[in-house]
Amino acid sequence: MPNTREQLAEHLKFFGELGVTGFRRDVAWSGRTEGQQQDTPAHPSTAGHLELAAGLAAIREDIGDCTRCKLCSLGRKQVVFGVGNPKANLMFVGEAPGRDEDIQGVPFVGRAGQKLTQIIEAIGLTRDDVYIANVIKCRPPDNRNPEPDEVESCEPFLFRQIDTIKPKVIVALGTFAAKSLLKTTESISRLRGRVYEYRGAKLVPTFHPAFLLRNPSCRREVWEDMKKVRALLNGEEVA
Ligand code: URA
Repeated sequence: MPNTREQLAEHLKFFGELGVTGFRRDVAWSGRTEGQQQDTPAHPSTAGHLELAAGLAAIREDIGDCTRCKLCSLGRKQVVFGVGNPKANLMFVGEAPGRDEDIQGVPFVGRAGQKLTQIIEAIGLTRDDVYIANVIKCRPPDNRNPEPDEVESCEPFLFRQIDTIKPKVIVALGTFAAKSLLKTTESISRLRGRVYEYRGAKLVPTFHPAFLLRNPSCRREVWEDMKKVRALLNGEEVA
């Protein structure tokens, strides 16, 4: 386990590699006042935290010990629903749980998850400020790509999560999430760099953190995308 100094050094290295050249101390930069979570009055939903948490719990209950698609009999340990702040202004959507997520029941907790945590922190937020979910709630065998029938039976639950949380901004992580949400066959390289309207939110597609681990040179593009996310959260116009 690295100590605090080592962790800080690693963060600074990552920020540097992302092309961040300085840090601003003003609270507007992170969109939070000190000691306060991003549970802000600016949230478009009028519902309270408890109401939204109850809404999410109801969706989880509806999923149950799901047998709607074949993934239930292909070795998954559990349904991985989603994690984070029910009043989040920012939501991340990935593809499907991997091995670590299947064991722990929480999205993005493996190596790609650690990278995602760094990305979140790079815009001055924490995992507790945002909501994280996947298109598919069960681990596909050998981490293969989810199949169309699996997407069809699972994505209504993601839509309900989005419609409950009503984030201002959704980040689609990687080709699979971006293609599934936007119903397109275009690759992530072609989709990223633009902002899309999606279910009342602004959708920003970016590279998947696992792709970033294999292709560190794409960090600059991810940072460009995350700067857009930050501007959108601050209510700025972004093309
Ligand atoms: N990759 C994903 O797309 N989702 C996870 O939860 C973990 C890895």
